[in-house]
Amino acid sequence: MLAYLAFTAAAAAADVAGALLVVTAHRRGRAPLRYFVAAGAGFMLAAAFVRMLPESAHVPHAFLFVLIGYFGVHLFEHTVAPHFHFGEEVHPEALLAPSAGYLALLGLGVHTLFDGVAIAAGFMIGPALGALISIAVFLHKVPEGFTIASVMLAGGGSRRAAVGAGAVLGALTIVGAVATSFVAEQHVGVALALSAGVTIYVAASDLIPEVNREGGPALAWTVFGGLVLFALADWLLAPLGGH
Ligand SMILES: [Zn+2]
Ligand SMILES: [Zn+2]
Repeated sequence: MLAYLAFTAAAAAADVAGALLVVTAHRRGRAPLRYFVAAGAGFMLAAAFVRMLPESAHVPHAFLFVLIGYFGVHLFEHTVAPHFHFGEEVHPEALLAPSAGYLALLGLGVHTLFDGVAIAAGFMIGPALGALISIAVFLHKVPEGFTIASVMLAGGGSRRAAVGAGAVLGALTIVGAVATSFVAEQHVGVALALSAGVTIYVAASDLIPEVNREGGPALAWTVFGGLVLFALADWLLAPLGGH
């Protein structure tokens, strides 16, 4: 079943699209991205709590792996990288050390690796779960590529470096998915538990804070829009089976 590769490739392309948006589009053209961040947060949390956690709960120490996934992202995005947050990089002073931009790329790279792990693990359990996780990943991919490209530009990098960083994230997503396809069937639950922890961190600790910081009731309501979208997608995908 190679469907996971098609969905992963689309997600990787969205990373590049997000990066291209930074180097090409007019500033005002970027505003709608905030709504993808908000809807993505709602959708991802619903997917993690309603589908990913229950599907991996039978694995021994499942919730330990969830915790490792959660804090693994915190470790790489916020301690190894000296300055990282989702959304446009508006603090060039925090990126004065040339290494800061590349450490942010490393931090976000670990998270994107697990975007691929999540999609592949989902499809190994069933097409409905795989498609649901793919939507969860896809919703935050364009803002993700946007984020890393703006980090590179703020750190003094060229436009080519900015788009290249988006391409690196896309490539890591594909690597994560392909590597997971080699995981033995009985260990897929571990991969899913780890990526559930990653998904919860990205949604609740990276995306929601951005929604709250940017403010505005319309943006805050969009998080619930993500929940509604999840319920709809879950219902429409159910006939495919797999959860
Ligand atoms: Zn910043
Ligand atoms: Zn991601």
